[in-house]
Amino acid sequence: MTESAPKPVREIRINPIVPSESVLVATARGLRPKKAEAPAPRDTRAHVETCPFCTGNEHMTPPVIASYPAENNWEIRIVENLYPVLGDDIRNPNLTFGLQQTIDGYGRHEVMIDHNRHGIAIHEMSEPHLALLFGAYRDRMQQLYRSNSRLRYVLVFKNFGPAAGASIAHTHSQVIATPVIPDNVQAEVTNSRAFWHKNHHCIFCSLIDEALTFEATIYDRESGDIRRKINVGQYVVERGAKFIAIKPFASRYEWEVHILPLQHQSDFLRVSKDDLDDLARVMRRTMARLDAVLGGAQYNYFLHSLPHDIQCEDCEASYHWHLEITPRTSIPTGFELGSGLFVNTVAPETAAEKLRTVVLD
Ligand SMILES: [Zn+2]
Ligand SMILES: [Zn+2]
Ligand SMILES: [Zn+2]
Repeated sequence: MTESAPKPVREIRINPIVPSESVLVATARGLRPKKAEAPAPRDTRAHVETCPFCTGNEHMTPPVIASYPAENNWEIRIVENLYPVLGDDIRNPNLTFGLQQTIDGYGRHEVMIDHNRHGIAIHEMSEPHLALLFGAYRDRMQQLYRSNSRLRYVLVFKNFGPAAGASIAHTHSQVIATPVIPDNVQAEVTNSRAFWHKNHHCIFCSLIDEALTFEATIYDRESGDIRRKINVGQYVVERGAKFIAIKPFASRYEWEVHILPLQHQSDFLRVSKDDLDDLARVMRRTMARLDAVLGGAQYNYFLHSLPHDIQCEDCEASYHWHLEITPRTSIPTGFELGSGLFVNTVAPETAAEKLRTVVLD
């Protein structure tokens, strides 16, 4: 059995943390059921006269909430969202009838202008700037959690490119604070807690351990041929002193990468200055790898951290915060939307290798 040309993969891979988020990995050419999402041309201009997020147009945005390092020479600026999907004004809370259960759309929706340069990409930002940006995420999450006990979750995310839902070209992230814990976060919290009860070990730490220390060969029972080979570091895309970027074995998106702290940490609010410096480095290098392989990818990223006020003592030990980066290279099909089973047409092993072997300066 040779190891050269990889055999096409066609298998359903079970997400070890959230089994309902499993994926069909189908890599044979003829099997590809998906339509590719073309990379969008990127607006690389440094300054745009009419852009409300550009320097000099501060009067065009809703009121400012915070600026870094200062309002008069800002590099990062947090403002209220002009079209918030959730608001903290008083609404009628009594809207439930029969099976039509509702929760008041209470919350906060804010925009974080990531950089004063209009068209700069994440991998083009300096590492000190990225450390400042992730520090700003942390500070704002902290402030929102403290501001009102009705807020159960603060989600920080970024949409980049029209296919990823970005409506303004100027680089920005968003912060949404909600009165409910999102289902996918709740599923991660519940399932990782169940794993911890059974194994007294964090499942995310186990995944990191497997990526760094695991080697295995699975043979065919009848013929003795090699069915699968798992090599040390096969799923590792980037590694820093404190953070690791991993290509999940059961990735729903072709180029999905997760960044996790190497040492167990449940809550993103605990990241230190040293953590932020290393996170910035791992983030910049991971995004540069994605850019080199995909050429101007449209993507989302979002932070999953332990929800506050969930009355769960074990969750400090069982949950592990992480950043999920999901490039949008294909449009979901009816099969995917109807079944909830995502189709990934690039074997995660192949994707990880391509990303890892990019030569960075
Ligand atoms: Zn701009
Ligand atoms: Zn852990
Ligand atoms: Zn997650």
